[in-house]
Amino acid sequence: MTTAHAWAAHAAHAPFAPFTFERRELAPDDVRLDILFCGICHSDVHFARGEWGDPRYPAVPGHEIVGRVSAVGSAVTRHKVGDLAGVGCLVDSCGHCGSCHQGLEQYCEVGGTGTYMSTEKQSGLPTYGGYSDFIVVKESFVLRIGHEEAGLAAVAPLLCAGITLWSPLRHWKAGPGKKVGIVGIGGLGHMGVKLAHALGAHVVAFTTSPGKVDECKRLGADEVIISRDKADMARHRHSFDLIINTVSASQDLGTFCALLKRDGTLVMVGAGTEKHIAPDAFALLGKRISIAGSAIGGIAETQEMLDFCAEHGITADIELIGVKGVDAAYDRIVASDVKYRFVIDMATLG
Ligand code: NAP
Ligand code: ZN
Repeated sequence: MTTAHAWAAHAAHAPFAPFTFERRELAPDDVRLDILFCGICHSDVHFARGEWGDPRYPAVPGHEIVGRVSAVGSAVTRHKVGDLAGVGCLVDSCGHCGSCHQGLEQYCEVGGTGTYMSTEKQSGLPTYGGYSDFIVVKESFVLRIGHEEAGLAAVAPLLCAGITLWSPLRHWKAGPGKKVGIVGIGGLGHMGVKLAHALGAHVVAFTTSPGKVDECKRLGADEVIISRDKADMARHRHSFDLIINTVSASQDLGTFCALLKRDGTLVMVGAGTEKHIAPDAFALLGKRISIAGSAIGGIAETQEMLDFCAEHGITADIELIGVKGVDAAYDRIVASDVKYRFVIDMATLG
């Protein structure tokens, strides 16, 4: 075991504070990554503040991890010491079920191992995330990074926000000739706008924040709708092929179904625990529309997304903070006051 240093939540509403714990020794197929930057996902807030049930405190969030490989096990072939690499929301899965065989480890039928909020198979210890100085991960769950090192901090959010939008955009075939809506322009949503635009779709951003309108266009939106403006919403009735909703608050899903074309799909990726208002059956059957969900993405598609982003010069828009800024950042995320992702410089852990 090797001692790791972290910045942890010690209770649902206590400020973050230092924490030390043990990480496992390298197995032959393990990679050790010294963490340089870690993004703050709204899921970290749900987790650390106990909104998804009581975590085991101290809890170390963080699943948008980038860093440098500092050691590799004897059987590792895909990564070498000195490489830049990333770790997202998953660090393991069964490897044998149908989903794992198809490269969809996020839907592992036995239950994958989360970067935090899980139990490590190798040690039986809780998994601790990326607000820490290093992490030990099986090589098949470590991603290669092709971006220039200079912009590395802004690559971190691709590991969750990026893939969570990339996977449904690809699955529902966003591209030229498709009208795609992205609801909620926070960490996930702003990546959705950038990626859908880069894939060639006609992109419409839905925001509740009038102050984000001009920026949505800069991010790649062709049009922007203030989602609380009923007249603005009504102008787009029956016109969307795909709408991806990143909002974690309760919403009236019928208002988005009304905007879909026949055979359109509303994909829910926000992970709040409040119930949504369901549309009536006629809203669905009248246009053969679907309401779907989507969780992050598999390892192969995460690598595909990272390679696409490196090739197209896509990163997140970030605010870089030190560990001491995490509590204030959480409050600003809850207030939708971030443009568009906080990333922690892990050198500030000291
Ligand atoms: P975020 O940065 O806080 O962005 C959410 C955005 O939703 C806000 O910026 C805001 O955008 C909008 N919003 C907030 N409150 C709202 C309300 N009451 N009504 C309407 N819109 C509202 O969060 P995130 O990191 O993007 O994560 C979003 C959700 O996705 C979280 O629940 C997170 O846990 C979940 N998530 C899911 C997956 C998955 O695999 N499915 C992966 C990662 C995260 P505007 O200001 O533009 O309105
Ligand atoms: Zn996340």
